[in-house]
Amino acid sequence: MFVSKLLNIFFSAKCPICGNESDYHLYNPFCTRCWRGIERYSGPACNICGMPTTSNLSTICELCLKKPPAFSKVLYYGIYDGALKEAIHLLKFNGVKRLSGPLSLMLSELPIPKADGIIPVPLHPNRLYKREFNQTASISRHLSKNLKIPLMIDVLKKIKETPPQTDVSGKERFKNIRNAFKVCREINGMNLLLIDDVITTGATIRECSKVLIKAGAKSVVVIALARSMPR
Ligand SMILES: [Zn+2]
Ligand SMILES: [Zn+2]
Repeated sequence: MFVSKLLNIFFSAKCPICGNESDYHLYNPFCTRCWRGIERYSGPACNICGMPTTSNLSTICELCLKKPPAFSKVLYYGIYDGALKEAIHLLKFNGVKRLSGPLSLMLSELPIPKADGIIPVPLHPNRLYKREFNQTASISRHLSKNLKIPLMIDVLKKIKETPPQTDVSGKERFKNIRNAFKVCREINGMNLLLIDDVITTGATIRECSKVLIKAGAKSVVVIALARSMPR
């Protein structure tokens, strides 16, 4: 506890949610109360893509019925909101890399099936160069250690630069992301876990899964930190 207090002096910061002093170095700048307040989503959702639904009756959403995705399931921790949203934002854009540890621990709580490899959704090399850090690869590295499943970092590559998904509308996202990824290694017959940070429309994970299955993967299960509520 003493070391923890000492470390916290180094990282002294105010919790971005409640404004109190953060009190534990592991998930600094968050305070323990706000960090523990991050809830796992347990409400009704599509059995395939995990999209939150309002009724308990439908078990598969309209999009998955109309256009069945190549992945077999999406598991995610929580709704992209509050402290979870803030944490992903700090990790992604402010380079608070230490958060990838506790965030990946959350993922380890999900009922993740056995798999042959973990594949992060890649960034285009130009984007990676600008940001110098792929938060999804960092989460995947931790998860690989926690679950003892090999990390396969160069399997999936992004070969087409696409505008940030937040800048384009739903339909455009699907168009933009088409043919943006390439499989660069043998994955025949493998059961794979595809890791992403936030799922919004699902365009990225649909496209990635499609190329992985086309390249011979036996199955793809998507694991993400958060999913945004449908608008
Ligand atoms: Zn707080
Ligand atoms: Zn669905």
